[in-house]
Amino acid sequence: MSLGMSAAWRAMQPKQERCERCELYYPEHLGECIHCSKLSDAQLIIFKAHHQETLESSFDLGKYFFVGAIVIGMLGSKGVGSKGSV
Ligand SMILES: [Zn+2]
Repeated sequence: MSLGMSAAWRAMQPKQERCERCELYYPEHLGECIHCSKLSDAQLIIFKAHHQETLESSFDLGKYFFVGAIVIGMLGSKGVGSKGSV
């Protein structure tokens, strides 16, 4: 679901170039990476580590949302059922 959304989002963006240094995308017309062009090699390592953390935490968050949606769906269908019997 989110994969399709991000693909659609990416298609709407101006042409992106993938930076070989930090592996993030930046607008091609800028000519240099907006993420790492001002970072030293040491700063880049910290930046990449932090970026990896961000990716992992957002993945966890997505998992919780998914479980939450199932729980809400179950509660919702239960509520409709009891309402009908009253
Ligand atoms: Zn970069």
